[in-house]
Amino acid sequence: MSSSIPAEGEVPSTAIDTVSRMSLLNISEEHLQDEKQSLHNAPLVSSYNDKIRPLLGAVDRLRHLKIMQEGIQLPTIVVVGDQSSGKSSVLESLAGISLPRGQGICTRVPLIMRLQSHTSPKAELFLEYDGRVVPTDEEHIAGAIITATDKIAGQGKGISNTPLTLIVKKRGVPDLTMVDLPGITRVPVYGQPEDIYEQISKIIMEYITPEESIILNVLSASVDFSTCESIRMSQRVDKTGQRTLAVVTKVDKAPEGLLEKVTMDDVNIGLGYICVRNRIGDESYEEAREEEAKLFDNHPLLSKMNRSIVGIPLLAERLVKIQATIIVKCLPDIVRKINDKLSSNVEELNKLPRNLTSIGEAMTAFMHILGSAKESLRKTLLRGEFDDYPDEHDMHCTARLAEMLNQYSEELQSKSSANATKNAFLLDVISVLEETKAIGLPNFLPRAAFLTLLQKNVKGISFAPIAFVEKIWDYIEKVVVSVLMRHSDNYPQLLSSTRRAAQNLVSKRKKQSIDWVIDIIEMEKLTDYTCNPEYVSMWNKLMAHQNEFMKALNDHSKPRNLHIDGYGDVDVAHLRSHVAVAQEAFDLKMRLTAYWNVVLRRLVDGMALHLQFSVQNLVNKEMEIEIINEMVGPNGNGLERMLEESPTIAEKRKRLNNSVKLLKEAKDVVSKIIDKIAAYVK
Ligand code: GDP
Ligand code: MG
Repeated sequence: MSSSIPAEGEVPSTAIDTVSRMSLLNISEEHLQDEKQSLHNAPLVSSYNDKIRPLLGAVDRLRHLKIMQEGIQLPTIVVVGDQSSGKSSVLESLAGISLPRGQGICTRVPLIMRLQSHTSPKAELFLEYDGRVVPTDEEHIAGAIITATDKIAGQGKGISNTPLTLIVKKRGVPDLTMVDLPGITRVPVYGQPEDIYEQISKIIMEYITPEESIILNVLSASVDFSTCESIRMSQRVDKTGQRTLAVVTKVDKAPEGLLEKVTMDDVNIGLGYICVRNRIGDESYEEAREEEAKLFDNHPLLSKMNRSIVGIPLLAERLVKIQATIIVKCLPDIVRKINDKLSSNVEELNKLPRNLTSIGEAMTAFMHILGSAKESLRKTLLRGEFDDYPDEHDMHCTARLAEMLNQYSEELQSKSSANATKNAFLLDVISVLEETKAIGLPNFLPRAAFLTLLQKNVKGISFAPIAFVEKIWDYIEKVVVSVLMRHSDNYPQLLSSTRRAAQNLVSKRKKQSIDWVIDIIEMEKLTDYTCNPEYVSMWNKLMAHQNEFMKALNDHSKPRNLHIDGYGDVDVAHLRSHVAVAQEAFDLKMRLTAYWNVVLRRLVDGMALHLQFSVQNLVNKEMEIEIINEMVGPNGNGLERMLEESPTIAEKRKRLNNSVKLLKEAKDVVSKIIDKIAAYVK
C-alpha cells in the first residue's frame, strides 16, 4: 500500500513549480490585484478564465470529493449577509439566472454555486445533492432548488448544513465558485426553530473561519453597515478585513450618502466595496444590466462614484481575480496537506492489527505480541535501555530501581541511628546486662545480652525492608502492565487477560519477596555471625577509646564529654554511678555497633541480589507462562476472542480506508492539474 505514496517532498516541490509557472503566466498576486486594468475589460477576464479554469476545476473536484471532511480547507468565496440583504440576487446577477427569493428564509442550506462559461448559446444547469445530479433549466431552477432544499433540510423553515451544488454552464458567465449561506436572522419567524440564530451562525462561522475563505459580505445600501450582523461575524474571524470584500446592493433604493459610506469605510473592509443594482421584479438579466449601467451613468449621486467600484461586471472581474489569487496561494499547501494526510493515514492503517481469520493467525499474532512485550520488558527492566519510552521518567526502570535501593539504604541508616540515640549512652546495655546476669565468672560477656540487644535493633528496623519490597513490586507491576498494554493495544480483547496475568504474577512474586524478607529478618535475629574482617577491625578501632572512656568515668576532673571515633559524641555523666558495669557495657555496645554495620549492609546487599534475581525470572521466564496460561489455559479462550475484531478497530479501519481512498482521489486530481499546467506553459 505504502508503495504508492510518493517520497517525501515530491509533490510539494511540483506544487511550488506550479506557483512559479503561474507567475510566468502573469497571474501573480500583485498582478491579480492590479486595480488599474479593471473596468469592462472583458477579454482580460476571459484570459484569466482560460488560465485559471483548470485550477478552479481541480478545486471544485476536491470540494466535490468532500476533501474538507479531512480537515483540508479549500479556497472558497463565501457569500454572507443579513437576511434579505440581497445575497441570492447578487449570485443571480453573476449567473444570469433566477434563484428563489423573497420574504422569509429562502436559502436554507449552503448553496455551492459553480459558474462555468461555455461556448454553446444554450445554458446548461444541474443540481447536485444526495449523490445525484439533476439536470434543470433556467425556467425551472427556482422550483428545483426549492425541491432540493426541502429534501435536504425538510419542508418548513429549518436549515441544514448539508450543501447543495448548483452548476451553471452559460455563455459569458465568469468562472467562479461561490457558496451562498442562509441569511442571519436574530428573531425566529413562525415555524423556525428557536435556536435558528445559533444554527445559522454556526454554519456561517464554519465557512468563514478558515484563512482560505474570502468573505463576500453583502450589505444593503439602505442600512447602517456597522449594525449588520454579517459585518460583526466577519470581523470576528477577519479583524483587519484583509479577506473581506463588501458588495452593496439596492443602491437604486438608497443612493443618498452611499459615496460617503463607502469612502469612510467605518467597518474595515480590506478588499474594498463594490456597489451594485440587482435585477428587480420581472426584468431580464440583460435589462437589469442595462438599467444598472444607466443608473451609474446618469443618477445625480451614483454617477459621481468611481467607476472602479460599481457594477456587476466589475464585481465579476474582481471575484475572478481574487479567486485566482487565493487558489494560486493555497494550492501548494493543499497538495502538501493531501500528501501528509495520506501518508499518515496509510501509516496508521498499516499499524492496525490485521483482521485475523484463523486460530493459527491468532496464535502468530499473539506470539508476536508476547515476544515484543518480552523484549521491551527486558530493555526497560533489565538492560536500562529506554528508547521505547524516551520521555517517560518512570519507565527508565534500572535508574529508578537503583534510586529506590539507595533510598532504602539511607532509610535503614537513619532509622538505626535514631533508635540508638533514643536512650542515654549505654543505659539500655546496662539494663540488659542486669537481666542476663548469671552465676559464673565475671569476665565473660554474656552472649544472651548481645543477642537481646541485636534482636531489639533488628526489630526496630524490620518494617523497612518489608515496606521496601512492597513498594518495589508495586512499581514493577505498573511498569509491566504499562508495557503489556502498549503491546496488546491493537487487540483490546487481550488487554484484560494480559493485565490480569501481570497482576497475578506480580502479586505472587510480591508475596514471595515478603516471605523472603521475613525469613531474612528472623535469621538476623537468631544468629550473630559474619566472616567480614571489618567487624573485628571496627571493633578494635572503637575499643581504642575504652581507656579514655573509663578515665572520664573515674576521674571527675576530666570532661564528661568525649568523642568516640566511629560512634560519635557521648556524654558520660550519668554513667559515673554505674562504674562497675560500665566497662563491660562499653565493650558490648562497641561489638554491637561494629556488627550492626555488617547487618545493615547485608540487608541492602541481599535485597539488591534478591530483586535482580526475581525481576530477571519474572521477565525471562514467568511472565510469558502466566500470560499463556491466562490466554489459552484451561479457562482461557483468548485466541478465539482475538478472532473477533473489536468494533472500535473495525470502525477505525473503515474510516481510515475511506479517508485513504478519498485522499488518493484528491491526489490524482491535483497531480493531473499540475501536469496540465506544466503542459499548458510549454
Ligand atoms: P437574500 O435573503 O440576502 O438572499 O436576499 P434576496 O436576494 O432574496 O433579496 C431580498 C429582496 O431584495 C428581494 O426582493 C430582491 O428583489 C431585493 N433586491 C435585491 N437586490 C436589489 C437591488 O439591487 N435593488 C432592489 N431594488 N431590490 C433588490
Ligand atoms: Mg438568499
